Amino acid sequence: MISSQDCPCGHGPYAECCQPLHLKQQSALNAEQLMRSRYSAFALQQIDYILETTALGQQSALDRAAIADWSKSNQWLKLELIEYQPKLDKTHALVEFKAHYHDGKQAHVHHEVSHFVLHQQHWYFLDPTLDMQITMKQPCICGSGKKFKQCCAQFI
Ligand SMILES: [Zn+2]
Ligand SMILES: [Zn+2]
Repeated sequence: MISSQDCPCGHGPYAECCQPLHLKQQSALNAEQLMRSRYSAFALQQIDYILETTALGQQSALDRAAIADWSKSNQWLKLELIEYQPKLDKTHALVEFKAHYHDGKQAHVHHEVSHFVLHQQHWYFLDPTLDMQITMKQPCICGSGKKFKQCCAQFI
């Protein structure tokens, strides 16, 4: 994709939208921006970005090949933002969205309510699909130093 083209997330030219985030020149200012940039990363197969913006303690459990395959095997049509709640508490936010994509045979809509966590001024996605086998008393996956139960467990 050329920088002057529209960003897959639908928020303007790629060069002024998600590209600086993908290139690590900027980091997402809020959970909504992170969500958009993760959608664009799926559309443009920026797999490292998907991995690196998942909660720190979850990154090792991600299946890179599966993510790459999912990214590549679909055509990403449109992102539709439904709801954004910037402050569930001091460090957690919610973004509800619909990702429209085409799998080569037919169009689909992936509807998701995602949770995000702020850690040392960076936002991360909390992946609810990973089986972390973490107990409630262990330190949280986000790196906050709190017990999991008192931190991100409430949101995933
Ligand atoms: Zn964008
Ligand atoms: Zn946490």
